[in-house]
Amino acid sequence: MKERMDEIRELAEILKKSENIVFFGGAGVSTESGIPDFRSADGLWNEKLKIKCTPEQLVSHTFYMKYPEEFFEFYKSKLLYPDAKPNDAHKALARLEQMGKLKAVVTQNIDGLHQAAGSQTVYELHGSVLRNYCEKCHKFFDEKYILDSEGIPICDECGGRVKPDVVLYEEGLDQDIINASVRAIAAADTLIIGGTSLVVYPAAGLVEYFRGDNLVLINKSVTSEDRNADLVIHDSIGRVLSEAMQYIISI
Ligand SMILES: [Zn+2]
Repeated sequence: MKERMDEIRELAEILKKSENIVFFGGAGVSTESGIPDFRSADGLWNEKLKIKCTPEQLVSHTFYMKYPEEFFEFYKSKLLYPDAKPNDAHKALARLEQMGKLKAVVTQNIDGLHQAAGSQTVYELHGSVLRNYCEKCHKFFDEKYILDSEGIPICDECGGRVKPDVVLYEEGLDQDIINASVRAIAAADTLIIGGTSLVVYPAAGLVEYFRGDNLVLINKSVTSEDRNADLVIHDSIGRVLSEAMQYIISI
């Protein structure tokens, strides 16, 4: 068992010598900003169906089309956290990009916190709650417009329904974003995977494109990729990255 300081030092050495780092992050990155994984939320009682729906059902395309009121009730209460702020993980990654070491963040999160921390190249596999569009005239609306709307958000220009630019269950991912993520991962010398158990599609598949020297996993619990990694740290992603950054700056 490695000592804690040895793990941080090893990570810092990897970051120091790397020139093309890609970060792949999951829900665990956002939970440290106080945004719970919506999949852990209680479902909602659906009066029309007379069943309690799971979080996954509630954010599915079928549900959005058939029961938009219930969809937006769940969406507004469980997926929108307008007061959330970037945490130490977001900040460390933005810093690594400014240093010219990190080339891309690939994220499964939809909260926009990487950009809020200053990251420039962010591939949002599942979209963003910060972008919303009228289904008819494509007018853009921000997150506040959705939060302030009563029930189903309606376009103030044409009366069309406003849809969050978030990939719902049953919907396909954006192929351009997948391709860009694959290219970034395939070109990386170091891939850091953080805050994800890697069981959710497309995480596991994307990781297979990595051909670089250092696969680093930072996650509170054990993942299926642990045995393939060059360095595994079971701890908070924010704490680990900020400590490694401090170590880099001090040497
Ligand atoms: Zn419209």
